[in-house]
Amino acid sequence: MSKIVILFLIFIMVLGIFGKLRLPKVSNPFKRKTVKATQKCESCGRYNMAGEKCSCGKDA
Ligand SMILES: [Zn+2]
Repeated sequence: MSKIVILFLIFIMVLGIFGKLRLPKVSNPFKRKTVKATQKCESCGRYNMAGEKCSCGKDA
């Protein structure tokens, strides 16, 4: 009978570990990437992808 209780506790611990590990590791890099991926143009204020130059500089 005690084995069932131990298995149940282990099952809850595994669920808790996965829940705690997945949320910060998945959400934080995604937010950091989205922030780094977009850079605001200093001249016109338009948001552009990182590494790409704004079209306002090419036109002018
Ligand atoms: Zn611009």
